[in-house]
Amino acid sequence: MAQKRDYYEVLGVNKDASKEEIKSAYRKLARKYHPDVNKEKDAEAKFKEVREAYEVLSDPKKREQYDRFGHSFSRQGAGGAQGFEGFGDFDFEDIFSQFFGGGGARGGRDRNRPRKGQDIQKRMRVSFKEAVHGAKKKIRTTVYEECSACDGSGAESKNDIETCSRCRGTGAVTMEQQTLFGRTRTQTVCPTCNGSGKTIKNKCSTCGGEGVQGKQKTVNVTIPAGVETNNQIRMPGFGHKGVNGGPPGDLYIVFEVEEDDVFKRHGDDLVVDVPINIAQAALGDEIRVPTPYGEVKLKIPAGTQSHKTFRLRGKGMTNVRSKRRGDLHVIIKAMTPKNLDKQQQKLFEELKKTDLGNSESLWDKVKSKFKQ
Ligand SMILES: [Zn+2]
Ligand SMILES: [Zn+2]
Repeated sequence: MAQKRDYYEVLGVNKDASKEEIKSAYRKLARKYHPDVNKEKDAEAKFKEVREAYEVLSDPKKREQYDRFGHSFSRQGAGGAQGFEGFGDFDFEDIFSQFFGGGGARGGRDRNRPRKGQDIQKRMRVSFKEAVHGAKKKIRTTVYEECSACDGSGAESKNDIETCSRCRGTGAVTMEQQTLFGRTRTQTVCPTCNGSGKTIKNKCSTCGGEGVQGKQKTVNVTIPAGVETNNQIRMPGFGHKGVNGGPPGDLYIVFEVEEDDVFKRHGDDLVVDVPINIAQAALGDEIRVPTPYGEVKLKIPAGTQSHKTFRLRGKGMTNVRSKRRGDLHVIIKAMTPKNLDKQQQKLFEELKKTDLGNSESLWDKVKSKFKQ
C-alpha cells in the first residue's frame, strides 16, 4: 500500500491552521474532487483522502492525537464502530446541494452514466431519557427523485427537447482569449445548455424544468442507547435517488442530546447531587438515590462529609460501541437547615453547647495559615 500522505499536506494548510482555514480548504478540495464533478480517474480516491484528512483535523481531539502520534493512532477505534463517527459540526448538505439540482446541469458526455444519489444529513433532537434507553423515532425528510412526468429531462414533451444551437449538441464551447502570451483557446462547458447539449422549448409543468421532484418521506430511525451529541449514524440507501439507474445516496442522522436537569454526563459516567440534612450526615442513614433506571437505596455512614462521592457501578450511560455501562457518581450535599421551628432551635442550642469536635482543629489550621 502506498505511504499515507500527511493530512496537513492533503488539505494544503499549515500545521497551525485555524479551524476556519481547515474548513475552507476542505470545501475547496471537496468541490474539486467530488466524483460527480471531477471525471479524472483518481478523483474519488482523492476525495476520500481529503474527507479523511478533514475528519481528523476538524476534530480538536483527533487533531491533537494526530499531531502527537501521526497516522498510527487512527487504527485504534476506527475499526468496528458501526457507522459511528463524530463528524463535528460540519453540514454536509451545503456542499452536496451544489452538486444536485439544476436540471441536467451536469456536463458533457458522461451525463447519461449511472450516478449514486446524493447523501442527506439531518439533525435529530433526542431527550435524555431516549439517550439512556435508546428509542425508535420517525424523521421527515425530502428526497429528490427523477421527475416522473418528464423522466428527468425537464421538458414538457419529447418534442420540446432541441439540440443546443450554440454548441451544436456537444455541450462544450471553445473560448478565445487574448493574454500576455498571445491568443489562447480553452474549452469550457457550454453556458447556454450547461453542457447537456440540449435546450428545452417548453419546460415540464410538474418539475418546472428541474428534472427532479422532492418527495416527503418518513423514515424510522433507531436511536442507540448511550448516544451523545454529534454522534452520527448512516442509513444506507435513504438519501436522494440515484440518476440513470444509479443507487440511492445515504441518510446521515446526527444526534443532539438534550441536557438533563438532574444527571450530568461525563462520557459514559453520570453525576448526580443528592441533598441530605446534617443530622443524616452526622448519624448516617439509608437514603434514596435517583438513577436513570429507577430509585435505589444507598447507605451512608455516620460522619459523612458534604461533597463525599459514592459510586454506583453500572448505573451510568451505555457505551454505544462496547454496550457496557458507565457508573453513576452520587455527590452528597449536606444542607444546613433554614427556618428552624422552636423545638429544632432548642436542640441545636443544646448541640452548640457540646463539643462537636474537629471545628477547633480546623480553626487552628486557618489561624496558622495567616500567621506566616
Ligand atoms: Zn419534470
Ligand atoms: Zn450548448
